Order: sequence, then structure tokens, then C-alpha cells
Amino acid sequence: MKQNLRKSNRLFHNTDQKGLVVLVSAGPGDPGLITVAGLDYLKQADVVVYDALSNPKLLDNVQLDAELIYVGKRGGNHAKTQDEINNILVENANKGKLVIRLKGGDAYLFGRGAEEIAYLSEHGVEGIVIPGVTAGIAAPMMAGIPVTHRKIASTVTFVTGHEDPTKDQTAVDYQSLAGLIAKGGTVCFYMGVGRLGAICQVLQSHGLEADTPAALVQWGTTPQQRHIVTSLGSAVADVQAAGISSPAIILVGKVAATNEPGLDFFTSRPLFGQTILITRTRQQASDLSIQLGALGAKVIEAPTIDIVGPEDWSDVDAVIKDVKAYDWLVLTSRNGVSALADRMAMMNLDARHLAGVQVAAIGSSTAEALEELLNIIPDLVPTKFVGESLAAELIAKHDVSGKKMLLLRADIARPALPKLLAQAGAQITEHVIYQTKLADTLPAEAFEALREKQVDWVTFTSSSTAANMVELLGDEKALLNDCKLASIGPITSQTMQKLGLDIALEATQSDIPGLVAALVDACTVEQAK
Ligand code: SAH
Repeated sequence: MKQNLRKSNRLFHNTDQKGLVVLVSAGPGDPGLITVAGLDYLKQADVVVYDALSNPKLLDNVQLDAELIYVGKRGGNHAKTQDEINNILVENANKGKLVIRLKGGDAYLFGRGAEEIAYLSEHGVEGIVIPGVTAGIAAPMMAGIPVTHRKIASTVTFVTGHEDPTKDQTAVDYQSLAGLIAKGGTVCFYMGVGRLGAICQVLQSHGLEADTPAALVQWGTTPQQRHIVTSLGSAVADVQAAGISSPAIILVGKVAATNEPGLDFFTSRPLFGQTILITRTRQQASDLSIQLGALGAKVIEAPTIDIVGPEDWSDVDAVIKDVKAYDWLVLTSRNGVSALADRMAMMNLDARHLAGVQVAAIGSSTAEALEELLNIIPDLVPTKFVGESLAAELIAKHDVSGKKMLLLRADIARPALPKLLAQAGAQITEHVIYQTKLADTLPAEAFEALREKQVDWVTFTSSSTAANMVELLGDEKALLNDCKLASIGPITSQTMQKLGLDIALEATQSDIPGLVAALVDACTVEQAK
């Protein structure tokens, strides 16, 4: 957050109270396709001015106190005019702020970026531009179409499809475009879906055959990407049949028909086309979300749990301070490790404070958190990631009788682990280091997707995510009947059964990689059918 921004990292100093406007090219849709330079500026923005074509996920990168100004058309909102946008940029820059103008694709390519820079300059405001990945290249690429090809296409032309090509006075020279396409060249039309029929007809009137290859790619580079490969003669009918609409690139040229192996990697990923709702806590959602997204899924995060500290820290602080009095420190979740690391940092303690105490972790993710957050490699991680196995292996491999063991866990942790250890003679001290609270509500996006039956899978990574999801859905619990439900392991499955939920899949290995692998398997089997 802002206060943590080191001076040496700052890209902008408003020493003379002069602001700066940076036109940041946001890329074509996938938030990963912004440039490193663009992201660096975005992270430091005081004000972000954005519209519909830049992915809203990019806004997760801004500082907490950054002001976000939406200037596009969405829902009932009217888009701001270019004059209004220009004024917003100048006004904010004149307050000495770092203003980021996020623009879809590349900021200049059919993006009016140059006009904005000129306006800023005329008004004495400094403006700079960060180039970006444009939809005309990236969307076809992700549909398996290279816009140039050594053997097929030696030219690529970017054209606005916004103008009526049948007008006498058009700025686009269709005769020349037809000539380039006839030689194998590629033409990418932006903003052209509304005029597709006219574009195809005019190109044919300039001598191109009806079977000249063409393609349309909608929402390129995103999990919602759809494309068709067609021809000038059939494009209108094919687009109607497929229901493809704006935003889409219309590509005309021989490359549209290339069908070389490997080019279609993007839509061939195992989870492409699947919409997966994940119900973990906000803090935990990102690793699952990243893994599923990389495999092609559209991920909707629906945190059902909020993690909060205990109401009173004094007991926990006392045992942390006194941790050397214990033989073992036992941690049973990533959240527990994270709470411990945060608390130790607050107390000005580092990993050396835990020196000499043996550490047990319930599973791979808890172990990873220990390494990441505290630089500690646990002394024991059981082969099966449940409390019973942790207890059994501690008892089998280490003499726990008479040993002092400190368990720092959640308020809702299961009693099996301390019970089994105590039965084996260990002296157990247990404290709640974090509490789980039911989230206030599900995000609107999650409700909408469920109601519109767009969700293929819902994942449950603990008993409480399942119980909370049912509670948050309330009267609409039946919405889950239209989705396949995936459980991380046997304990979560038991709870799901009690809640009357049908389990479509249970991971063999009860952790996040195990759940991801099980989803991939299930979808691969489905696709093979
Ligand atoms: N500056 C942007 C283009 C803005 S014009 C760029 O460089 O990409 C808007 C047009 O871009 C849309 O009408 C559509 O034709 C195209 N477009 C933008 N994002 C797209 C996407 N993800 N998939 C397909 N076409 C897209």
C-alpha cells in the first residue's frame, strides 16, 4: 500500500506540484497482457481513469486509496464524451496527481490516445504513453491464427470497420485491401461486427472470391474467447449461427484457414470453456484461482468466509512469547501460519524466536506457508493431510508422551488431533489464532452466474466453505443443483452430504493441487466422450 512504496521505486515525484498523465495500454483482455512498465505505473496511481475494454481485474493492483473513475458505457451508464475524459485527465493532473488512463489493447491503435496526449500538451500537462498488446494480433493468435506467416502472409493491415464501406467517401481503400488479401495478406478489422455484411460484400465487389478465408474472434485472450473460421461468402450466416458479437476482430486472409498443429493451444487447454466458482476465503482464493485460470477456466471468486483475529490476543501473545517452553508447535492451516507470522511481526519477532522448537504442519500448503512466511522447513508433514494422520505420524515417529505441544488453530478446528495426541500422553495447549466468520454476502457476479446457469463447477475446499455457501444462498440453494460440485476430500464431502449436496467429484489428494488435478481429469474424460 501507499505508505510502503519505497522512495527508490517511485516513478513519479510531484516536487513542483505538477501532475503526470500516463496512458497505459491495458492489453486486449487477459490482465496478464499489460506490460511490466504499464503495471508499474498502475500500482502507483493516485487516480485511474478506465473504460469497458480494459479488464477490471487490473484494478486489483492499485493502492487502497487510489481514486477509480469509470468513463465507459456499462449497464445504464452513459459513456463520458472525449471532451469530458480530457477534462478529467487535466483536472486531476493539475492537482499534482499521477493519473493513469487505462486504455484497452494498445493506447494509440484505434484508441484516440494520440488525441489525448495532444490535448494534455496543449493544456500544459505532461503526458506519456506505454505501448501495448493489440487485439488485432493477440485475439487471432489465441484462436490459432498467426497474422503473418513466412509461407502465406507477408503483410498485415489494421483497419477500422467502423466506417460504412459502401459510402462513396470512405477513408478506407477497399480496392487496395482486396489486392493485398488476394496476394495472401491479412487484414484485421476492428469495430467491424456491425458492418460485417457490407465489409464482406465490398471486398468481393473488388474481386475477392466468396471462399476467401475469414475468421472472427470475440473476447480474444479471455476465458470467454470464441471464434469461428469462415469465408467472405458465409461469414454473416456463420456469425449469426454462432451468436458472435462485439467486441470481435474480423480477420480476412489466407492465414485464417491455416490449420497447423499446435497453434490452437489456447482453447485446447483442459479447463477452457469451464466456469468454476471457488468458495474459499478471499485470502486463500488466489492460488486456486491462478492455477485454474492457467488451465483455461473462467474463475469466479465467491469468498464465503472471512478470516479475523481472536477477540482478545493476550493469551495467544503470551504463548507465542513463551514458545520455547514447548517441544512442538503444530500448525494445521495456511491461515494459521499466516496469522502467526503477522502476529510475530507485530511483536517484532522473527523466525529465530522459534529456534529449537520442532514444527509440524498438517499438509503441503501449510508447509509451504511456513517456508514462505517464516523461512521454516517443518520437521513433520504427514503423508495424508488430515488431523488423524498428523497425530498418528507424530506418535509413530516421535515419542510424544510427556511432550509439550502447542496447537495454534482456527476456532472451528476439529477435535481429533488434540484428542489423539493427549491419549498418547502429550501435554496439549491449544489456542485460537484466527476465527472464521461467515461472509456478509456472495458477490453479485457469483449470484448472477449461478442464476444464469453459467457455472459448470463449484469447488469446496473445507467443510465451512460448504456450510457457508448453503447459508449464503439461502432460499436459492437449489441453484447448486445446476452445477457439478467438487470436494477437496473426505471430510468436506461428509459435510456436503449432510447438507444434502450432490458430490460430483472428490479429490484423491486432499489439497489444492489435488483438487485441480481431479478437475482436469474430470473435464478430460468429459471432452473425450
Ligand atoms: N486499442 C484497442 C482497440 C480499440 S477499438 C486495441 O489495440 O486492441 C475496439 C475494438 O477492438 C473492438 O470493437 C474489437 O474489434 C477490438 N477488440 C478489443 N478487445 C478485443 C478482444 N478481446 N477480442 C476481440 N476484439 C477486441
